[in-house]
Amino acid sequence: MRVLSVASESVPLIKTGGLADVVGALPLALKPQGVEMRVMLPAYPGILDKLGPIEEVWADWNLYGGHARLMKGVIGDVTVLALDAPYLYHRDGGPYSGAQGDYPDNPERFAALSWAAATVARDGMGDGWKPDILHAHDWQAGLAPAYLRYNGDGGVKSVLTIHNIAFQGVTGGDRLESLRLPWHAWHPDHAEYHGNISTLKAGLALADAITTVSPTYAEELMRPEFGMGLEGVIARRAADLHGILNGVEAGTWSPESDPAIRPYSTATLKEKAANRAALIAEFGLGDVPGPLAIVVSRLTWQKGIDLLAEALPEFIAAGGGLALLGSGEAHLEQAMHAAAARWPDRVAVRIGYDEGLSHRMFGGGDAVIVPSRFEPCGLTQMYGLKYGTVPVVAATGGLNDTVIGATPASLAANAATGVSFHPVDTIALKGALRQLISLHADSAGWSRLVKRAMRAEVGWDGPAKAYGDLYRSLTA
Ligand code: ADP
Repeated sequence: MRVLSVASESVPLIKTGGLADVVGALPLALKPQGVEMRVMLPAYPGILDKLGPIEEVWADWNLYGGHARLMKGVIGDVTVLALDAPYLYHRDGGPYSGAQGDYPDNPERFAALSWAAATVARDGMGDGWKPDILHAHDWQAGLAPAYLRYNGDGGVKSVLTIHNIAFQGVTGGDRLESLRLPWHAWHPDHAEYHGNISTLKAGLALADAITTVSPTYAEELMRPEFGMGLEGVIARRAADLHGILNGVEAGTWSPESDPAIRPYSTATLKEKAANRAALIAEFGLGDVPGPLAIVVSRLTWQKGIDLLAEALPEFIAAGGGLALLGSGEAHLEQAMHAAAARWPDRVAVRIGYDEGLSHRMFGGGDAVIVPSRFEPCGLTQMYGLKYGTVPVVAATGGLNDTVIGATPASLAANAATGVSFHPVDTIALKGALRQLISLHADSAGWSRLVKRAMRAEVGWDGPAKAYGDLYRSLTA
């Protein structure tokens, strides 16, 4: 079984969020399923240099305004196809935006990626490789299933995965032609979306199967509170919709072997205390008598950081501490800086992106707080489980599917793996933090909870089997 996975980011080459973790992990996770997956992404500056010996497997003299070449290379054990089109992808700034905000030609930049993916999937590549399945991720690749449908699929089936419905690839209807869509795409059952074009909607309407990254999010997406306008489109495709959780890459995220921390396991939890002390020193905190909570997150409305700011005074007064790493909306960064200024011994904030520090935080924290208003899957609560950094989560999306909240019954059955709250508001979050304080105060119960969390199944085996089954059902 051959699968071409196409996305705008993938670790270890380029990452702005969880999408990259998942796209990067899938090829290795799927190998035991007999799936040979290649990953295709734009050749942003520097990408080709990281691929070592590269070989051209396809070219187009006019791919959305320039000469593009598809370069095959290898990183780790994964074959990568980088679309080398400097006129589209060589920009000062990130993959999607620079100092002036989003690049105005983003629709064409990612339509080009989708077009190239659909074309090589249908016709095969220069080295004779042709996939059975084209697996597209999010709005950036949303047009790939549509191009297969409109221009001939060559026997290739398509899958579209929604990693976050908030990003829909909406652009003006006047771009129909420049996105190389046929006139009949201008229809509510295709790409037309309230007088605009949505590349995500096109994919949702036209892919053979749709997946999203947790069973709860799959259900939520069919409701107006979560579907963000696309709930009707998704509900109509309910029979083809699959909720498959993301996994955690054990090679990168395991407390037993993580080079960023003093390693520990359920049998050597004392070492976690050493990591805690190191983390407190690194963040310049003082004595934290209660649980030391961590947050590693984009600082946005989605992530509920404003709720955390409101719940914090009570948590700090009860003995808690907070170490936060992230960046995002200015008012949320300011709220967190204000908290750090108010309680310098208990709250510390690092604005920025720092992979190594995030590992040290999971190694040393007692709890990780994830108060998201919506969360398709979420990764940090799963890192929390693996590292015995007890997750405190809003009961939504993948947070609901991965954490078993502490209740008298779940604690008695030794099934609880964290703290879960609902609805997603300040009052409920305050309640969850009170519960965290009291769980932490009972040291025998706390150590049971930590060990139970560390034994939670959050690897790729189950999800990989689900993807393998889906691919096989499509090609049967
Ligand atoms: P999303 O993709 O919505 O941002 P996820 O929880 O799915 O949220 O994935 C976020 C990923 O990015 C995780 O791997 C998390 O550890 C990482 N991350 C987020 N912010 C930072 C940061 N400031 N520094 C390091 N890693 C971060």
